[in-house]
Amino acid sequence: MSNESGKDALTRRGFLGVGSAALAAASVLASEKSAAQEQAPYQQKSNRSSSDPGPTNPALDAANPDSNSPPQTDAGGVQTFKYPFSLAHKRMQEGGWSREVTQRELAVSKTLAGVDMRLTAGGVRELHWHTAAEWAYMLYGTARITCIDADGKSFVTDVKENELWFFPPGIPHSIQGLAPDGCEFLLVFDDGNFSEYETVLLTDWMAHTPTDVVAKNFGVSEKSLASMPKKEKFIFQTAVPGPLAEDKRIAAGALGPSPIDFAFRTMDMPPTKSNKSGDVRIIDAKNFNVTTTAAAIVTVKPGGVRELHWHPNADEWQYFFGGKGRMTVFTTGGRARTMDFETGDVGYIQKTLPHYVENTGSTDLKFLEMFKSSYYQDLSLSEWLSHTPPELVAAHLNLDQATLDSIPREETVIMPE
Ligand code: MN
Ligand code: MN
Repeated sequence: MSNESGKDALTRRGFLGVGSAALAAASVLASEKSAAQEQAPYQQKSNRSSSDPGPTNPALDAANPDSNSPPQTDAGGVQTFKYPFSLAHKRMQEGGWSREVTQRELAVSKTLAGVDMRLTAGGVRELHWHTAAEWAYMLYGTARITCIDADGKSFVTDVKENELWFFPPGIPHSIQGLAPDGCEFLLVFDDGNFSEYETVLLTDWMAHTPTDVVAKNFGVSEKSLASMPKKEKFIFQTAVPGPLAEDKRIAAGALGPSPIDFAFRTMDMPPTKSNKSGDVRIIDAKNFNVTTTAAAIVTVKPGGVRELHWHPNADEWQYFFGGKGRMTVFTTGGRARTMDFETGDVGYIQKTLPHYVENTGSTDLKFLEMFKSSYYQDLSLSEWLSHTPPELVAAHLNLDQATLDSIPREETVIMPE
């Protein structure tokens, strides 16, 4: 928390005594760098040893102070666990776009992959399914989603910002942006090697089935199928759909609607934990029984830290959608690495490895913790130490009784309480 205020102070000082806007901009970058270098106790090497006189990228260095000037506690090689969506290829279509961060971009992310997708009002992610499960979180705007369940019964609903949905593998579905400005959402697939280029698409399937077979299948003439697309559409622009109730009624037909709710109204649920430093909402099969992907939606206020913890049951895939923070991943053999995160970044922590996430900015830090598991599980350092005989803990850490007594007795999730 003190890092940011120190940096702000230096930045303000950098502005003083500078005449032109161009000089002021240069001075911000220069003072960012000196702020990073002065971040005691992280940088205890001499200025001469830590100096970087050759060519550099000031903007990237400033955005990644813990890589450019690592905390003294960092040690050895830890596989890179950050990839910004800003570096991902954007697949542009009429009606929207998509970009993905998978194991191919971020080698450590073996169990989950993410797709960031934009749809205009009326823009459609065409009818399709995946071999992986799809978990989704609405970042902006509203969409209409459709699917049929394993009994062929229809599900149609509208989802808004902060709400989410889940489609199991092989369940066919669609997503369409609504008025006034469509939507943007994050998709998480339970396969690190997932590709949005490799899904089962309705148009693609029809384009690769002999037309006489399609005609026979539907009991129609080949001529009536002549205008079908010759290749996949993926994302395309069409009209904004009509009222939800009408779409639901017609899609349900004689079978009736699906009894399964594939959507989850996140903000209708009170936070699972909440205190002055932030809150967390945990959504897994306990409260959203269709899902096989567990999620925690976390807000850490300025000055707060998502406490030191680990997950015994699964790797963690993260998506940052507000604020700035840093995370250290500690791994076996005394290795540790700290990396900086901001909006649009993906992070990843392998199963059982300890980590924390600290808000280093002046606004709320918001991120998703995602797990390929139907249930959420974590253990915190505080609950471990406070439920172990105190003499044993004291003998390890050379802590006095008063300090041991101050450690929270149970998991707080975000500190300070
Ligand atoms: Mn999908
Ligand atoms: Mn975690």
